[in-house]
Amino acid sequence: RAKDEGRNTLRFFDPHMQAAANARAGLQSRLHQALKHAQFELYYQPQVDEIGRIVGAEALLRWNDPVHGLVGPAQFIQLAEETGQIMEIGQWVLQAGMRQQAHWQTQADLRALSLSLNISARQFLQEGFVGELASLLARSGANPERLRLELTESVLLSNVQGVIEIMQQLRTLGLWLSLDDFGTGYSSLGYLKRLPLSELKIDQGFVRGILDNPTDAAIARSIITLADSLQLTVVAEGVETRAHHALLLDQGCRKFQGYLFGRPVPLADFEASVRAQL
Ligand code: C2E
Ligand code: MG
Ligand code: MG
Ligand code: MG
Repeated sequence: RAKDEGRNTLRFFDPHMQAAANARAGLQSRLHQALKHAQFELYYQPQVDEIGRIVGAEALLRWNDPVHGLVGPAQFIQLAEETGQIMEIGQWVLQAGMRQQAHWQTQADLRALSLSLNISARQFLQEGFVGELASLLARSGANPERLRLELTESVLLSNVQGVIEIMQQLRTLGLWLSLDDFGTGYSSLGYLKRLPLSELKIDQGFVRGILDNPTDAAIARSIITLADSLQLTVVAEGVETRAHHALLLDQGCRKFQGYLFGRPVPLADFEASVRAQL
C-alpha cells in the first residue's frame, strides 16, 4: 500500500505514465542528436497546375534516424512543439529550404518553381521571427517571391491583430502566405478577409470525402468559392485519384497536391521529375 511505502515513494505510481514519460525524454534527446548530427532532410512533394504541370513543391520534413530509419513529422513535431525544440528544427527547415530555392534560381529549368515551407504556430509567434526570416533571406539569396510560408489556423488563436501585423511584415519582405489544412481550425470568415494571405489549402480530410460524402463535397466547394471571392489561390491537398481530381477541377480548383501527382520524395527525385516534363 502506498501509505506504507514511505515518504519518497510516488503515491499513485503508474507504470504506463512512467513509460510514456521515459519515451518522451528519450525522443527529446534523440531529436537533440538529430539536430546536432544533421539527420533531418527535406522531402519535396510536387504541386501541379490545372494541366498537371509541376509549378512548385511543398517541403516536408523527414528524420533519418540511425535506429528507426526514416521518421515522418507526425512522430515528432508535436513533442518538438511542446519542448520548444521546434524553434531550432523550424530554423533548420527555413535555412535548408531557402538554400535550395536559391539554388533553383540559378537553374533555368527550375527557376520558376515555388517552394512552400511549413511553419509551426509557436515558431511564427516567437519574438523575432520576422527578423530571423529577413536575415535568412539575405544570407541565402532565396527569392521571397517564390517562397510560401504555410501557416495553420492555430496561429489565429492568438491575438489576431498582432498576427495580422506579423503577416504584413512578412509580406513586406516579399514572402507569400498560405493557410494550411483550411477548414479544420478556428478561422472566422470575418478574420479571413483581413489576413494578407495569398492561398488557402483545402484540408485533405475534405478532399478524401468529396466523392462519397455530400457534406465534405459542399465544404470543398464552399472553400473554392470563398477563395475565389477573396482572390486567393486554392490548393487541394491529398488528391489521390483521377475522380477526385476531376471533381475538384469541375468545382473550380486550379492547383493540386497529392499522391496522384507525386509523393514527397528526396530532392534529386523531385528535380528529375520536373526535368522529365520539360
Ligand atoms: P501538411 O503540411 O498538411 O502536409 C501534407 C501531408 O499530407 C504530408 O504528410 C504529406 O506527405 C501528406 N500527403 C500529401 N499528399 C497525400 C495524399 O495524396 N494522400 C495522403 N494520405 N497523404 C498525403 P507528412 O509529410 O507526414 O507531414 C505531416 C504534417 O507534418 C504536415 O502536414 C505538417 O503539418 C507537418 N510538417 C511537415 N513538415 C514540417 C516542417 O518542416 N515544419 C513543421 N512545423 N511542420 C511540418
Ligand atoms: Mg503544409
Ligand atoms: Mg496540409
Ligand atoms: Mg496536415
